[in-house]
Amino acid sequence: MSTAPPSPSFSAHTLDACFLGPYAQNDTLLEKLVVEFLRDHVYWRRNFHPEDPLAISTSAALHPDYLAFEAKMRRELHLLSAALKKSVPFHSPRYIGHMASDLLLPGLAAQILTLPYNPNNVTEDAAPVTVELEVKVGLQLARMLGYVDDPMHPECAFGHLTSGGTVANYQALRLALAQKAFPVALRAAGISELGLPEDDWAAFNLHPRAATALVARWGEWLAQAAPAERKRWQMKVAAARIEQLGLVEFFAAHPALKVPKVLAPVTAHYSWSKGCKLLGLGRAQLGQLPERGMRIDVDAMEAILAQCLRERQPILMAVAVLGTTEYGTIDPIDAVVAARERFAQRGLGFAVHVDAAWGGYLATLFRNEDGSLRSRDEVAHGFDAFPTPAAHAAVAAIADTDSVTVDPHKLGYLPYGAGAFICRDHRATVLLTEAADYVFHGTASSDYMTRYRSLGQIIPEGSKSGAAAAAVYVSHQVLPLDHAHFGLLTARTIEAAEAFRTRAHQFAEENADVVAALVPFDPDSNLVCLALNPAGNRSVAVANAFVRRLHDELRIDPGHPVQDKQFFGSATTLKPEALGDDGIQRIFAALGLDAATLDDAADSKLMILRHTLMNPYLIDRENGISYIDLYFEHLAKRVRALAG
Ligand SMILES: *Cc1c(COP(=O)(O)O)cnc(C)c1O
Repeated sequence: MSTAPPSPSFSAHTLDACFLGPYAQNDTLLEKLVVEFLRDHVYWRRNFHPEDPLAISTSAALHPDYLAFEAKMRRELHLLSAALKKSVPFHSPRYIGHMASDLLLPGLAAQILTLPYNPNNVTEDAAPVTVELEVKVGLQLARMLGYVDDPMHPECAFGHLTSGGTVANYQALRLALAQKAFPVALRAAGISELGLPEDDWAAFNLHPRAATALVARWGEWLAQAAPAERKRWQMKVAAARIEQLGLVEFFAAHPALKVPKVLAPVTAHYSWSKGCKLLGLGRAQLGQLPERGMRIDVDAMEAILAQCLRERQPILMAVAVLGTTEYGTIDPIDAVVAARERFAQRGLGFAVHVDAAWGGYLATLFRNEDGSLRSRDEVAHGFDAFPTPAAHAAVAAIADTDSVTVDPHKLGYLPYGAGAFICRDHRATVLLTEAADYVFHGTASSDYMTRYRSLGQIIPEGSKSGAAAAAVYVSHQVLPLDHAHFGLLTARTIEAAEAFRTRAHQFAEENADVVAALVPFDPDSNLVCLALNPAGNRSVAVANAFVRRLHDELRIDPGHPVQDKQFFGSATTLKPEALGDDGIQRIFAALGLDAATLDDAADSKLMILRHTLMNPYLIDRENGISYIDLYFEHLAKRVRALAG
């Protein structure tokens, strides 16, 4: 497993071997891999105690009951296979709807290869191989994000997989709350030797770095205590922890503290609302950070932080989004980190989490092969406008955040069931364990790996797929997460997005007689929206009805064969509170709409088309075709038909 593969030189030709392909051109490659490794699995079984007699006789397959079962199984499988023909054709460059595309062959093959071994990554007892791969995936992603990825380093990052970004976001909340409340528990237990904060407010408001350092000091202090003493202190602290008491008893015991708030931007994914409910914080604790031009409004955020400080309202975490789900925009992570540093100094400490479920893999473009950050000019080479200086600064600042969510099953092009949570400093994770020993046995790499072999102690889930971990690991090994490897694929999506934007302007000019069309704000990544309004119309309701009809034609209709569809797109709405007043005015003026026609009900927001440009074959260089051009030609026809 650890023998280094020969390094192919990466080029466009490499990408041709990466996917099954729009026409399943690489069918023989996948078939060869699947058959080869299925046989390999068979031989593995056969070589395990071959002296055991055959429990299924060689004539079993002749029995009528066997044959009847096989027939029934085949029937159901055929029914399933037939039904699945209605599936969404994610693999096609005609699919530019939601966040899905073709699957990377190394990941798909690794997943299929691993499935019959059925490893369970809850613990190494059930997954002697794939648990280690999962911990290594955490390090691969940490490196991509700019965190320390060397397990020999005491402050090395740690990451693990989850079923998806939603659960990774829960894990971020869980870890942030554990870190925030732990110093308060240490004080309550009456441990004075550790240099604890002077009061509950200060303890609850440590900078996360200071809180992690305190956890580490506590571990070292315990390690040198006599066994009986150690046990006594562990029990005392455990009894005072928020995880033991629950929110109600914890805050009753600390009247100077309030339940902390989570601050997330207006356009944040709804998993944050789910997470606040799940943790028992309540949705009322989810505060919205105002936005301007679909990105966090830093001035407004500062005002909110100042108000929280005045009112002694603690904050659990500020969430910045790298690639919003609806618009692909990137929040100013650097400014959020800077604000956190300032407010932590003033006694309002909180965690900064980056929700990069969608955009995390964009960071591949920002990494050299040695893991160092590329300059803005280096990244920008070959693109029209990407990355904006703001986007570059945001990605560069991830290194100073506390944790990140990334979805390998989105821009990592891997099968579902692969989200990831990564925290900057692994020493905090001891607070998540069920049976915490709090004792750190040095910091050597072997200890790091050993510690995390009991993943079930830390993850929100229990049993989980080792095959998914194998898929992510192998994919990242074959396509390292830097600009020269995986980044080639990411670059294609950015090129497609830039081509889309250019073509959208041309579409707007050519069809101005029937429709006003506009890319409503500059995309930061590979999601591009298009706002449309029939020429001469002033009313939001009429514009929304028009876009809804267009979208109805562009979306999956379970009653219709997918083969009938020319293209697939998706839709979203422009929320006035995410655009800011100047944004609304600019967009409504350009579309010829009257903002006064926004109402309080169905038409309180403007409906727009949304396009996810992640298929690597949107621009087909082999045949000199652009599916982006074809899409706009199709859209022009439909717009003319609907407006006429
Ligand atoms: C997709 C997404 C999520 C949720 O991830 P799942 O994998 O669907 O659970 C969270 N945040 C953002 C920004 C997303 O794009």
